[in-house]
Amino acid sequence: MKTLETHVGAGIRTVRNYVGGEWVSSDASETLPVTNPATGETLARVPISTAQDVDKAARIAHHAFRSWRDVPPLERAHFMFAMRDLMVRHCDDLARMVTTEHGKALADAQGSVQRAIENVEVAAGIPSLMMGYGLENGAGEGIDEDAVRRPLGVFAAIGPFNFPMMVPFWFLPYAVATGNTFIVKPSEQVPQSQELAFQLIDEIGLPPGVVNLIHGDRTTVDELLDHPLIRGVSFVGSTPVARHIYARAAANGKRVQAAGGAKNVIVVMPDAVLAKSVPNIINSAFGSSGQRCLAGSLVVPVGEAHQPLREALIEAIAGIAVGNGLDPAVTMGPVISATARDRILRAIEDGVEEGAELVTGGGPASVPGCEGGYFVEPTLFDGVRPEMSLARIEIFGPVLAMMSAATLDDAIDLIDASPFGNAASIFTEHGGAARRFQRRLDVGNIGVNIGVAAPMAYFPFGGARESFFGTLHGQGRDAVDFFTDRQIVIRRWFSEDPGGSHW
Ligand code: NAD
Repeated sequence: MKTLETHVGAGIRTVRNYVGGEWVSSDASETLPVTNPATGETLARVPISTAQDVDKAARIAHHAFRSWRDVPPLERAHFMFAMRDLMVRHCDDLARMVTTEHGKALADAQGSVQRAIENVEVAAGIPSLMMGYGLENGAGEGIDEDAVRRPLGVFAAIGPFNFPMMVPFWFLPYAVATGNTFIVKPSEQVPQSQELAFQLIDEIGLPPGVVNLIHGDRTTVDELLDHPLIRGVSFVGSTPVARHIYARAAANGKRVQAAGGAKNVIVVMPDAVLAKSVPNIINSAFGSSGQRCLAGSLVVPVGEAHQPLREALIEAIAGIAVGNGLDPAVTMGPVISATARDRILRAIEDGVEEGAELVTGGGPASVPGCEGGYFVEPTLFDGVRPEMSLARIEIFGPVLAMMSAATLDDAIDLIDASPFGNAASIFTEHGGAARRFQRRLDVGNIGVNIGVAAPMAYFPFGGARESFFGTLHGQGRDAVDFFTDRQIVIRRWFSEDPGGSHW
């Protein structure tokens, strides 16, 4: 078993693409720095892969599809077993890389690698998941009808910065296990986690061209969206970009699923068990420094829940350990970049100017030994009103806004009024209230006494309204549907035996 080449601390190098089963340099003349957000040090440079890079990868993947589609599903599943074993063995390396280039606390990174592994495990069930269905005499007497699931060709996934390892694995294992070939374009801010995953992919012996890795930015993405050999695109990122991806890929005749941003609300009823609820709310708002599409960023206590919740949140926030995520004692790392930090600090200033009460935090955090890092204090606002930016925009940082509601229906109306629909949680011991909350909301993921309602790998991952464009989500059966078509075969035979003595 090879040791993974993490390259951390080994000098500035340019990360490589992986195309046709080989590590290759991009044609790019332009590269961008990849930074460790806990220290500000440059870890590597990432190439902005060109139209030629994309074209080469698409052609090679298209060529590989011709024979990969004929590999029996059970044999394709064997590759998933091999991948799963390698990922489990290297879980720690993968998680450390996620923390190094993204910043999140190591335990968060480990959880995200675990979810990536679980998606590989689910995709290993492809012989069952991919089965079609049929009906004898389905089209009339003596005419049988079958629906056969078939792969389509080359697919591409475009990832966000906040889950460098996990998000591409909402798609990759299913695309490959169903017999398609694949191109991953990770976020240019965190390219090394996928580079590490591809070192494992390289070891499992997939035929060349079945999976490929192309680095780059928006220009590389547009090349993928326009390439005629790419049949479909899976995207995860912000809403404006998701909308662009959806429109451009569809205009080019591609199958597309595009997950966007969020503004997730947590409702706390007066009967909530605060001692258990608050750690969940804190994890939801401040885990990964608030840089999660399922992060609860607006907490709405109903009625008399307000004061006890406020006090419990202040106390819990004081216990958050901010620092370098590689330190196991740290519970909240930096945000992804200096640009993100400054944007978040501006959003906090806007909140103050608009009249919200800054309860705690609100500034950059200083971490001894990490003076160059991009840390923001865990921040709590109270007295937020629906028209304030704190209640409406996705801040994507460690900022929790508190806004009181008189009734559960008021809280539901508030969530309804948001254009986003990724997640919403309610904390209560009242089953009927939780049921009303769930049934009235047009939101993709509902948590009941759960702060981060992240679907397991065998459930679909996706939101509603401005948080998702498309029909089929990532993960599980939805992913299998996305990466396959149903071909209908209607069959009859005019004679039951062709005559002669052998029949
Ligand atoms: P982003 O939209 O800036 O970038 C995502 C990807 O799109 C990157 O690979 C980037 O290179 C590419 N890209 C950026 N601008 C582009 C453009 N104009 N044209 C084409 N491609 C472009 O998102 P991000 O900042 O990396 O990630 C954070 C966002 O992702 C947040 O809004 C978060 O809510 C969202 N997100 C959503 C989910 C979900 O399941 N809904 C999951 C994770 C993250």
